[in-house]
Amino acid sequence: MKAIIIIGDGMADRQLKELNYLTPLEAAEPKNMNRIASLGTSGLLYAISPGIAPESDVATLAILGQDPYKVYTGRGGFEAIGAGIELRNEDIAFRCDFATVNEDFVIVDEKAGRIREDATELATQIQDLKLKSATDIEVIFKQTLGFKGVLVLRGENLSTNVSACKPKLNTRVNSIKPLDCSPEAKRTADILNEFIRVSHSILKDHPINRERRFRGQPPANVLIPWGGGRKPSLSPLHKKYGLRGACVAAVSLIKGICKLSGMDIISVSGATGEVDTDTTAKANAALKAIKDHDLVLIHVEGPDEASHDGDLAGKILIIKKIDTMIGTILENIDLEETCIALLADHATSLKLKKHTADPTPITITSPDIVRDGVTHYSERAAYKGGLGNIYGKHVMPILLNLMGKPVEFGV
Ligand code: ZN
Ligand code: ZN
Repeated sequence: MKAIIIIGDGMADRQLKELNYLTPLEAAEPKNMNRIASLGTSGLLYAISPGIAPESDVATLAILGQDPYKVYTGRGGFEAIGAGIELRNEDIAFRCDFATVNEDFVIVDEKAGRIREDATELATQIQDLKLKSATDIEVIFKQTLGFKGVLVLRGENLSTNVSACKPKLNTRVNSIKPLDCSPEAKRTADILNEFIRVSHSILKDHPINRERRFRGQPPANVLIPWGGGRKPSLSPLHKKYGLRGACVAAVSLIKGICKLSGMDIISVSGATGEVDTDTTAKANAALKAIKDHDLVLIHVEGPDEASHDGDLAGKILIIKKIDTMIGTILENIDLEETCIALLADHATSLKLKKHTADPTPITITSPDIVRDGVTHYSERAAYKGGLGNIYGKHVMPILLNLMGKPVEFGV
């Protein structure tokens, strides 16, 4: 038996007045997701526990059977590994986004107009920076996908205990502060503040940004590091569960988590991490990967991005695209030999434009599972499902049980 885990990032939501009190999942009428629900058993998934609104990192860790309370060392470590940077133990890593600030250093676009190709060119300007505040530190910046990137500080005496937070719309970019009295935290805050200032001075009048302004697009005139972390250590799936895993994902965060979990990372051209991602290419990559792996995780970032943008049409569109992707997978796999788990890592509210602690629908199929009579994959239908309420940490043991490898007590 093999297994496929399909994660629609932030795909779950609340009922919306403009959808006549349906959720985006219900409004999208995803026939292939509904087919999986009809074939299997459904329930409500709390990635961490009720009342906790998780980020994708800790949610995905839990879903893969890793204990986030033990292994989570901050987001940056996963991002850097996923970006292909060989992190050393002393390094500290940050997610680092291109953004747009005005002359008062207030963020007027957190994603620099969802910059794409221009970001790759601008990133070349941020190589081999020498910072005055720390001449002994190597500064590594890598753009990963659109406005997203990774910053690694390589050297001694650094700390992640600094106030490096996600850029927030209409707020001034505050200086990063040390969060303890150590010289390491003070030094790291100084380095990051200089990095932000230097990035602004390099980027603000770059010809690409002048052109962007001319075209009416927001200039990507600053880089904001956030989510600091160190190199994480996870137990690989083949050791823990005896499974050979593969991951089909666009975003570095998920690639990093999967790579550290010992999974093969399948690169898919056309996977953008946004609504326009090539879901057909993802389906084909997953179908290829399942041939020589026991477990394939397919992650689609688009629903989360659309939700943070408050883009209802975009969210419904990407749900429909994921549904078509699932259709391709269902047509080409042997359901007698494959379990499928379809889930969202957390709910992202279109209305609030942020993650919520709401449970998400999960549905799991296997050839001989007792069908629970639920025929739709949605937040509402999942309330009536046979799985009941489960946590992220239960997903792998449930799948293993259906694959004929139940986890024994105390293991
Ligand atoms: Zn997520
Ligand atoms: Zn999100």
